Amino acid sequence: MPRRVLILGGTSDARALAGLLPGAVSSLAGRVRAPVLPPGEVRVGGFGGIDGLVDYLRAERITHVVDATHPFAARMTAHAAEACAATGVPLVILRRPGWSSVPGDRWIRVPSLPAAADLVPRLGSRVFLTTGRQDLATFAGLDPWFLVRSVDPPDPPVPHRMLSLLDRGPFTVEGERALLREHAIDLLVTKDSGGPTGAKLTAARELGVPVIMVDRPPLPPGVPVVRTPEEAAALG
Ligand code: NAP
Repeated sequence: MPRRVLILGGTSDARALAGLLPGAVSSLAGRVRAPVLPPGEVRVGGFGGIDGLVDYLRAERITHVVDATHPFAARMTAHAAEACAATGVPLVILRRPGWSSVPGDRWIRVPSLPAAADLVPRLGSRVFLTTGRQDLATFAGLDPWFLVRSVDPPDPPVPHRMLSLLDRGPFTVEGERALLREHAIDLLVTKDSGGPTGAKLTAARELGVPVIMVDRPPLPPGVPVVRTPEEAAALG
Protein backbone atom coordinates (compact mmCIF):
# COMPACT_ATOMS: atom_id res chain seq x y z
CA MET A 1 0.00 0.00 0.00
CA PRO A 2 1.49 3.42 -0.87
CA ARG A 3 2.45 5.56 2.08
CA ARG A 4 -0.17 8.16 2.99
CA VAL A 5 0.37 10.27 6.09
CA LEU A 6 -2.36 12.12 7.96
CA ILE A 7 -1.06 15.15 9.88
CA LEU A 8 -3.41 16.35 12.61
CA GLY A 9 -2.54 20.02 12.55
CA GLY A 10 -3.34 23.50 13.72
CA THR A 11 0.22 24.39 14.74
CA SER A 12 3.31 25.89 13.11
CA ASP A 13 5.10 22.55 13.62
CA ALA A 14 2.33 20.77 11.70
CA ARG A 15 2.76 23.21 8.81
CA ALA A 16 6.52 22.66 8.83
CA LEU A 17 5.98 18.89 8.78
CA ALA A 18 3.58 19.15 5.84
CA GLY A 19 6.37 20.93 3.96
CA LEU A 20 8.67 17.99 4.68
CA LEU A 21 6.15 15.31 3.64
CA PRO A 22 4.83 15.89 0.11
CA GLY A 23 1.75 13.75 -0.41
CA ALA A 24 0.59 14.00 3.21
CA VAL A 25 -2.88 15.29 4.04
CA SER A 26 -3.19 17.90 6.78
CA SER A 27 -6.29 18.14 8.96
CA LEU A 28 -7.53 21.32 10.62
CA ALA A 29 -10.39 21.58 13.10
CA GLY A 30 -11.80 24.67 11.37
CA ARG A 31 -11.86 26.88 14.47
CA VAL A 32 -9.93 29.82 12.97
CA ARG A 33 -11.80 31.77 10.30
CA ALA A 34 -8.78 32.50 8.10
CA PRO A 35 -6.19 29.88 9.07
CA VAL A 36 -2.61 29.90 7.84
CA LEU A 37 -2.85 26.86 5.59
CA PRO A 38 -0.15 24.18 5.42
CA PRO A 39 1.33 23.28 2.03
CA GLY A 40 -0.23 20.35 0.18
CA GLU A 41 -3.61 18.69 0.63
CA VAL A 42 -5.79 20.01 3.45
CA ARG A 43 -9.09 18.83 4.92
CA VAL A 44 -11.06 20.93 7.42
CA GLY A 45 -13.49 20.00 10.21
CA GLY A 46 -13.95 17.37 12.91
CA PHE A 47 -14.05 13.68 11.98
CA GLY A 48 -17.07 12.91 14.14
CA GLY A 49 -15.40 11.41 17.19
CA ILE A 50 -13.31 8.24 17.40
CA ASP A 51 -15.62 6.25 15.12
CA GLY A 52 -15.52 8.98 12.50
CA LEU A 53 -11.74 9.04 12.58
CA VAL A 54 -11.62 5.24 12.28
CA ASP A 55 -13.84 5.48 9.19
CA TYR A 56 -11.69 8.24 7.74
CA LEU A 57 -8.43 6.32 8.24
CA ARG A 58 -9.90 3.31 6.45
CA ALA A 59 -11.61 5.23 3.63
CA GLU A 60 -8.54 7.33 2.86
CA ARG A 61 -6.15 4.38 3.24
CA ILE A 62 -4.02 6.29 5.73
CA THR A 63 -0.81 4.40 6.54
CA HIS A 64 0.64 6.72 9.24
CA VAL A 65 -0.74 9.40 11.54
CA VAL A 66 1.25 12.24 13.08
CA ASP A 67 -0.60 14.06 15.83
CA ALA A 68 0.91 17.53 15.54
CA THR A 69 -1.95 19.31 17.29
CA HIS A 70 -1.47 21.92 19.99
CA PRO A 71 -0.40 20.45 23.38
CA PHE A 72 -3.78 21.52 24.81
CA ALA A 73 -5.88 19.85 22.10
CA ALA A 74 -6.27 16.86 24.42
CA ARG A 75 -9.47 15.48 22.99
CA MET A 76 -8.11 15.20 19.46
CA THR A 77 -4.96 13.58 20.82
CA ALA A 78 -6.98 11.02 22.79
CA HIS A 79 -9.19 10.28 19.77
CA ALA A 80 -6.13 9.76 17.55
CA ALA A 81 -4.67 7.28 20.04
CA GLU A 82 -7.93 5.32 20.21
CA ALA A 83 -8.58 5.32 16.47
CA CYS A 84 -5.02 4.30 15.59
CA ALA A 85 -5.11 1.49 18.17
CA ALA A 86 -8.39 0.26 16.68
CA THR A 87 -7.11 0.29 13.09
CA GLY A 88 -3.47 -0.66 13.65
CA VAL A 89 -2.28 2.53 11.93
CA PRO A 90 1.03 3.68 13.48
CA LEU A 91 0.77 6.95 15.41
CA VAL A 92 3.46 9.41 16.45
CA ILE A 93 2.88 12.52 18.55
CA LEU A 94 4.83 15.61 17.54
CA ARG A 95 5.04 17.90 20.59
CA ARG A 96 7.52 20.72 20.89
CA PRO A 97 9.05 20.94 24.35
CA GLY A 98 7.32 23.02 26.99
CA TRP A 99 8.88 26.17 28.43
CA SER A 100 11.33 26.10 31.35
CA SER A 101 11.80 28.97 33.74
CA VAL A 102 15.15 30.76 34.04
CA PRO A 103 16.50 32.92 36.87
CA GLY A 104 14.42 36.07 37.18
CA ASP A 105 11.16 34.39 36.15
CA ARG A 106 8.28 34.58 38.64
CA TRP A 107 6.20 31.62 37.50
CA ILE A 108 3.47 29.83 39.37
CA ARG A 109 2.65 26.49 37.73
CA VAL A 110 -0.94 25.26 37.96
CA PRO A 111 -2.44 22.01 36.68
CA SER A 112 -5.47 23.44 34.86
CA LEU A 113 -7.27 26.56 33.64
CA PRO A 114 -9.76 26.48 36.56
CA ALA A 115 -6.79 26.40 38.95
CA ALA A 116 -5.38 29.44 37.13
CA ALA A 117 -8.72 31.25 37.43
CA ASP A 118 -8.78 30.55 41.19
CA LEU A 119 -5.40 32.25 41.61
CA VAL A 120 -5.88 35.27 39.34
CA PRO A 121 -7.78 37.58 41.75
CA ARG A 122 -5.12 37.01 44.43
CA LEU A 123 -2.19 37.82 42.16
CA GLY A 124 -3.23 40.56 39.76
CA SER A 125 -5.64 43.35 38.90
CA ARG A 126 -4.62 43.97 35.26
CA VAL A 127 -4.19 40.57 33.63
CA PHE A 128 -2.83 39.66 30.20
CA LEU A 129 -4.68 36.45 29.27
CA THR A 130 -3.18 34.49 26.35
CA THR A 131 -4.91 31.16 26.81
CA GLY A 132 -7.04 31.50 23.66
CA ARG A 133 -10.58 32.65 23.02
CA GLN A 134 -12.12 29.22 23.64
CA ASP A 135 -11.18 29.21 27.31
CA LEU A 136 -12.50 32.61 28.38
CA ALA A 137 -15.59 31.22 30.11
CA THR A 138 -13.30 29.93 32.87
CA PHE A 139 -12.38 33.55 33.70
CA ALA A 140 -15.79 35.11 33.07
CA GLY A 141 -16.89 35.56 36.67
CA LEU A 142 -13.74 37.32 37.85
CA ASP A 143 -13.35 41.01 38.79
CA PRO A 144 -9.82 41.87 37.55
CA TRP A 145 -9.42 43.69 34.24
CA PHE A 146 -8.26 41.45 31.35
CA LEU A 147 -6.36 42.09 28.15
CA VAL A 148 -7.31 39.13 25.94
CA ARG A 149 -5.32 38.38 22.81
CA SER A 150 -6.73 35.99 20.22
CA VAL A 151 -6.76 35.42 16.46
CA ASP A 152 -10.55 35.63 16.12
CA PRO A 153 -12.97 37.66 18.28
CA PRO A 154 -13.94 35.95 21.55
CA ASP A 155 -17.42 34.54 21.99
CA PRO A 156 -19.34 35.04 25.26
CA PRO A 157 -19.17 34.32 28.11
CA VAL A 158 -16.13 36.56 28.59
CA PRO A 159 -14.76 38.53 31.57
CA HIS A 160 -16.95 41.58 32.20
CA ARG A 161 -13.93 43.94 32.29
CA MET A 162 -12.00 43.01 29.17
CA LEU A 163 -10.17 44.53 26.21
CA SER A 164 -10.00 42.22 23.19
CA LEU A 165 -6.87 42.44 21.07
CA LEU A 166 -7.00 40.58 17.75
CA ASP A 167 -3.54 39.53 16.67
CA ARG A 168 -1.62 36.50 15.46
CA GLY A 169 2.00 35.67 16.36
CA PRO A 170 4.89 35.41 16.14
CA PHE A 171 5.47 38.30 18.54
CA THR A 172 8.70 40.09 19.45
CA VAL A 173 10.09 40.79 22.91
CA GLU A 174 10.05 44.52 22.12
CA GLY A 175 6.40 44.37 21.11
CA GLU A 176 5.41 42.31 24.15
CA ARG A 177 7.30 44.63 26.51
CA ALA A 178 5.53 47.65 25.01
CA LEU A 179 2.15 45.92 25.34
CA LEU A 180 2.70 45.00 29.01
CA ARG A 181 3.75 48.59 29.77
CA GLU A 182 0.97 50.23 27.78
CA HIS A 183 -1.71 48.32 29.68
CA ALA A 184 0.07 48.35 33.08
CA ILE A 185 -0.14 44.56 33.17
CA ASP A 186 0.63 43.06 36.60
CA LEU A 187 -0.07 39.36 35.80
CA LEU A 188 0.32 37.14 32.74
CA VAL A 189 -1.67 33.92 32.31
CA THR A 190 -0.53 31.46 29.66
CA LYS A 191 -0.69 27.81 28.74
CA ASP A 192 2.65 25.98 28.57
CA SER A 193 2.40 25.84 24.80
CA GLY A 194 6.14 25.95 24.17
CA GLY A 195 7.62 27.18 20.92
CA PRO A 196 7.79 30.54 19.26
CA THR A 197 5.20 32.46 21.30
CA GLY A 198 7.60 32.76 24.24
CA ALA A 199 8.50 36.44 23.74
CA LYS A 200 5.83 37.41 26.29
CA LEU A 201 7.68 35.38 28.93
CA THR A 202 10.92 37.25 28.32
CA ALA A 203 9.08 40.57 28.51
CA ALA A 204 7.36 39.51 31.75
CA ARG A 205 10.70 38.53 33.29
CA GLU A 206 12.28 41.84 32.31
CA LEU A 207 9.41 43.82 33.83
CA GLY A 208 9.08 41.62 36.95
CA VAL A 209 5.54 40.55 36.02
CA PRO A 210 4.45 37.21 37.57
CA VAL A 211 3.21 34.44 35.28
CA ILE A 212 0.58 31.80 35.91
CA MET A 213 1.74 28.91 33.74
CA VAL A 214 -0.91 26.25 33.02
CA ASP A 215 0.66 22.80 32.73
CA ARG A 216 -0.04 20.57 29.73
CA PRO A 217 -2.59 17.79 29.96
CA PRO A 218 -1.05 14.30 30.06
CA LEU A 219 -0.32 12.39 26.84
CA PRO A 220 -1.94 9.04 26.09
CA PRO A 221 0.28 6.21 27.36
CA GLY A 222 2.34 4.11 24.99
CA VAL A 223 2.42 6.50 22.02
CA PRO A 224 5.88 7.56 20.80
CA VAL A 225 6.62 11.29 21.05
CA VAL A 226 9.05 13.31 18.94
CA ARG A 227 10.02 16.93 19.44
CA THR A 228 10.65 18.34 15.96
CA PRO A 229 9.04 18.16 12.50
CA GLU A 230 12.32 16.74 11.14
CA GLU A 231 12.19 13.83 13.62
CA ALA A 232 8.56 13.16 12.73
CA ALA A 233 9.32 13.22 9.00
CA ALA A 234 12.12 10.70 9.45
CA LEU A 235 9.78 8.10 10.96
CA GLY A 236 7.74 5.63 9.01
P1 NAP B 1 -9.75 19.48 21.05
O1 NAP B 1 -10.55 20.08 22.15
O2 NAP B 1 -8.70 18.50 21.40
O3 NAP B 1 -10.70 18.77 19.99
C1 NAP B 1 -12.10 18.93 19.96
C2 NAP B 1 -12.61 18.36 18.66
O4 NAP B 1 -12.22 19.20 17.56
C3 NAP B 1 -12.04 17.00 18.33
O5 NAP B 1 -12.75 15.98 19.00
C4 NAP B 1 -12.22 16.97 16.82
O6 NAP B 1 -13.59 16.77 16.48
C5 NAP B 1 -11.91 18.39 16.44
N1 NAP B 1 -10.49 18.59 16.09
C6 NAP B 1 -9.49 19.08 16.87
N2 NAP B 1 -8.34 19.16 16.18
C7 NAP B 1 -8.60 18.72 14.93
C8 NAP B 1 -7.85 18.57 13.76
N3 NAP B 1 -6.54 18.93 13.72
N4 NAP B 1 -8.46 18.07 12.65
C9 NAP B 1 -9.79 17.73 12.67
N5 NAP B 1 -10.56 17.85 13.76
C10 NAP B 1 -9.99 18.34 14.87
O7 NAP B 1 -9.09 20.64 20.14
P2 NAP B 1 -8.99 22.22 20.40
O8 NAP B 1 -8.20 22.45 21.63
O9 NAP B 1 -10.35 22.81 20.24
O10 NAP B 1 -8.07 22.62 19.17
C11 NAP B 1 -8.61 22.68 17.87
C12 NAP B 1 -7.49 22.95 16.88
O11 NAP B 1 -6.83 24.16 17.21
C13 NAP B 1 -6.43 21.86 16.85
O12 NAP B 1 -6.12 21.61 15.51
C14 NAP B 1 -5.25 22.47 17.59
O13 NAP B 1 -4.01 22.01 17.09
C15 NAP B 1 -5.45 23.96 17.34
N6 NAP B 1 -4.98 24.81 18.44
C16 NAP B 1 -5.44 24.60 19.71
C17 NAP B 1 -4.99 25.40 20.73
C18 NAP B 1 -5.43 25.19 22.16
O14 NAP B 1 -4.98 25.94 23.03
N7 NAP B 1 -6.25 24.19 22.46
C19 NAP B 1 -4.08 26.43 20.46
C20 NAP B 1 -3.64 26.62 19.15
C21 NAP B 1 -4.11 25.81 18.14
P3 NAP B 1 -14.18 15.33 16.16
O15 NAP B 1 -14.35 14.65 17.48
O16 NAP B 1 -15.47 15.63 15.45
O17 NAP B 1 -13.20 14.61 15.27
